[in-house]
Amino acid sequence: MISNSVAASVINAKQTFQKRPLIISGPCSAETEDQLVETAVQLAALGKVDVLRAGIWKPRTRPGSFEGVGTKGLPWLQKAKEKTGLPVAVEVATGKQVEDALHFEVDILWIGARTTVNPFSVQEVADALKGVDVPVLIKNPINPDLELWLGAVERVAKAGVQDIGLIHRGFSSYGNTEYRNAPMWHLAIEMKRRNPEMLLINDPSHICGRRDILLDVAQKAINLDFDGIMVESHINPDEAWSDAKQQITPEQFGAMLSAIEWRKEDINSDDFHAALEKFRQQINHIDDELMQLIGQRMKIAKQIGQYKKDNNITILQTNRWNEILERAYQRGEVLGLSQEFVSRYMDAIHLESINLQNKLMNK
Ligand code: PEP
Ligand code: MN
Repeated sequence: MISNSVAASVINAKQTFQKRPLIISGPCSAETEDQLVETAVQLAALGKVDVLRAGIWKPRTRPGSFEGVGTKGLPWLQKAKEKTGLPVAVEVATGKQVEDALHFEVDILWIGARTTVNPFSVQEVADALKGVDVPVLIKNPINPDLELWLGAVERVAKAGVQDIGLIHRGFSSYGNTEYRNAPMWHLAIEMKRRNPEMLLINDPSHICGRRDILLDVAQKAINLDFDGIMVESHINPDEAWSDAKQQITPEQFGAMLSAIEWRKEDINSDDFHAALEKFRQQINHIDDELMQLIGQRMKIAKQIGQYKKDNNITILQTNRWNEILERAYQRGEVLGLSQEFVSRYMDAIHLESINLQNKLMNK
């Protein structure tokens, strides 16, 4: 049963959910009532934050670290909301957590990366959400698997949840150093392409794992037309009980929000559209030429394949491939193309050549 006051705050949260850019902030974990309420008050004072986040149940990679204060922290969130008027958001991973969060009038729920990977858990959360009209944000799964992310969205949608949003928090990869979780922006972009109407926000905190590059990542997200950001903040970040390295003070978050250049996807100016249209035509023209050239390259690769077949030579000749790569890197460098890009581009071309030659050999 949902009480009237919950129904009222749900309506409020539904409106908040439509706000662009949507700005969510708050501590990784609720630790004490004072810490939570004080963080909320400082965030609200910025006048730019739409939702207060706080982890109550923390799914930790290793046992023995702080696993959240649990249900006893939920009344603290109610207090923070009462004091600031900010709707509150909490991570849920089980049906019981959904029930408890709703009982204490949590306005927005989110499913964490460690839960999105597990269809059983997502289904359990979805089942608990049946008949409840509360907005739900779904973080990308830990591993770079769009199908799992989509599957979680489908399960929650099937439960009847109307307001679903996506949080891009990066993907785990072994031995990664620059980021805690590699952003793999193309996956978030593909997710947006498949769900064009769905809210998509970026979580620079869990991508970066550190403070110094939060702004860069947030700015990139805004440049890529994300609908908002969720950033962890704490009144005393160095002393935080979880994710201390990546949290910033509400004041620092305020400065970060001011530093971000907020871009619009579109502006209604004829000059702007005319200029953009000209550039787009140029790009289309160059893309056509690139296709033509790649087609020609493949034709020659086929001729070489035929020649190799007639003379009984292997398809792959390592020395030749190294020579091609070296040339490409050198040329690319002069043209300002990164080695990473040149390498990926040449790999794709090479793979297609090998496939074509292989088909020929097997004929
Ligand atoms: C969090 O938001 O504190 C959290 C646990 O994040 P993630 O699910 O992205 O690891
Ligand atoms: Mn965290």
